[in-house]
Amino acid sequence: MAVSEQKWHTSIKTTILLMGLLLALLMASVGFLLWMLAGGSVMWYRLMGILLVLVLIAITIITLTGIVAFNRLWYNKIVPSWILTHSGMYLHWLYPILTGLGKLLGKDQNEIRRAYAQLNNQTLLNSEKTYAADEMLILTPHCLQLSDCGIKITNDIHLCQECGACNIAGLISLQHRYGVETVVVTGGTLARKRIQEKKPALVIAIACERDLISGLMDVKQIPVYALINERPEGPCHNTRVDLDEVEAVIKRFLRGDKT
Ligand code: SF4
Repeated sequence: MAVSEQKWHTSIKTTILLMGLLLALLMASVGFLLWMLAGGSVMWYRLMGILLVLVLIAITIITLTGIVAFNRLWYNKIVPSWILTHSGMYLHWLYPILTGLGKLLGKDQNEIRRAYAQLNNQTLLNSEKTYAADEMLILTPHCLQLSDCGIKITNDIHLCQECGACNIAGLISLQHRYGVETVVVTGGTLARKRIQEKKPALVIAIACERDLISGLMDVKQIPVYALINERPEGPCHNTRVDLDEVEAVIKRFLRGDKT
């Protein structure tokens, strides 16, 4: 696996801890506000207070369901579909709060991102949906290509000579076997452009945690399966991907014959 079970568990544990802390802060704030409101007499002051309490209660409920979702992921249990259908909400509402809280406590931001990527993937795996090969698109960053390779493959991956020194050869081989196109992109703008051109029904995105989460927040209409890359030589340089995992994801979502 590109990201070991151990790493997933650490990420989910950190996320649950941060959510627990957020929950405690929210409940304390609601309690404090209610106490203030009980003593207040000015109408607009009371109205503002009630509005704020309602917002805090809404965030508390989202946080609570988030804790349930991540807790079930932690124990490798199925996350109820009613929770998963709202997973986008956790990403857009809770993620910025949690990363802010994590930063304050000196937590690795990638841990929260990994947990979110797993929740996102679980949402897709829970659905029964499958796709034709030409409805799927694999997006990979160009740092997957060996830095010493002299061939420019960003415009056409098939220019690769398939020497096997990097994972590009493996992705081409998967394209031959399953017919799912792989596109190499040099950044988020090009990734969005390729998605607009091809209009896939499912994107399998290979990238680092940061790029995957910003992609997930960006591409709202199309489901994106997130595959975190390996970075044995540091960020953005000669990165790798677990080709067995890529193949397993293709086979899971591919409609029809799966050889
Ligand atoms: S597999 Fe070989 S030829 Fe193809 S991109 Fe990688 S290093 Fe270059």
